[in-house]
Amino acid sequence: MHETLHMSDRRIFLRSSLLSSLALLVNKNATADAHMPSIKGKPIVISTWAPNEKANAEAWKVLEQGGKSVDAVEAGVQIPEGDPEDQSVGYGGLPDRDGFVTLDACIMNEKGDCGSVMFVESIMHPIKLARLVMDKTPHVQLVGEGALQFALANGFKKEQLLTPEAEKEWKKWLKEAKYDPMIIPDLLENKTQRGQQNNHDTIGMIAMDANGDLSGACSTSGMAFKMRGRVGDSPIIGAGLFVDNEVGAATSTGVGEEVVRICGSHTVVELMRQGNSPEQACKKAIQRLIKLRGDKVKELQVCFIAINKKGEFGGYALQKGFTFAVHSNNGSKVYTAKSIYQ
Ligand code: ASP
Repeated sequence: MHETLHMSDRRIFLRSSLLSSLALLVNKNATADAHMPSIKGKPIVISTWAPNEKANAEAWKVLEQGGKSVDAVEAGVQIPEGDPEDQSVGYGGLPDRDGFVTLDACIMNEKGDCGSVMFVESIMHPIKLARLVMDKTPHVQLVGEGALQFALANGFKKEQLLTPEAEKEWKKWLKEAKYDPMIIPDLLENKTQRGQQNNHDTIGMIAMDANGDLSGACSTSGMAFKMRGRVGDSPIIGAGLFVDNEVGAATSTGVGEEVVRICGSHTVVELMRQGNSPEQACKKAIQRLIKLRGDKVKELQVCFIAINKKGEFGGYALQKGFTFAVHSNNGSKVYTAKSIYQ
């Protein structure tokens, strides 16, 4: 179980204080994260992808005033949802192969309350709808037409989510209409995969408030040009997002089908429960996927971020290029995650 440390890790490990060495001896699974800062404390919010610094700033407004983490993540995630330039979340998201923008989102708080909507059309802020499912229904998940009906009955308005730019992309795709939603066609030339497109993608956001309570939210338009009705990991509690207020929280981005297979975010949280740091937990989840899938995931992107009860955080990815944004009392910062494949 105990993982061999890389050379750089080892150097830091050797330099680390007697106290942390003792802590490592006590728990064999705990390992030092060489490049992760030791920002500890609260409040703190962390999101997938660098451009989501803006989303974190919105969440921070709630957190710095002593607000609840669930309200912070709900507010934060609405930033990319409402941004037409973000082609993978909410308004402006790339459509499915039939030209429809369909959205997925979920939210979870420190009590294990959660809400999720999947395959929703015409609603700009699916995260608000997921929150409503959590707060106002006895259920966890609403899908498609039923989710839309619930939205309209609760004052949401239908909106056109397909922007001219996204429609243009879709029409470009239609020329060949090659069905491979895991890989964005124009990225093939660069041998990069979805997950690095415009350097941003699905937003997964996890936060700890001043009270020490953890929550998370996740929102996406899913894979571009996907099959109609396809849903990935993002709105699935345990896959795209998981919160356990005793241990930590985790969320994911990348090829949802692969994340679902290992119940990714729940797995990361359980690995933290076993004593792994957030970064090590994310790494071990990715390694588990590779063990299961081998070469099938060699060219796909899967990324996790996590935070624990101490306010320590980390991330890890299958492929290089995954960034995540952190906002704490030290301000806003972007990190590039380590990855298995370079
Ligand atoms: N995880 C999302 C999905 O599979 C997409 C992504 O993050 O790129 O729908």
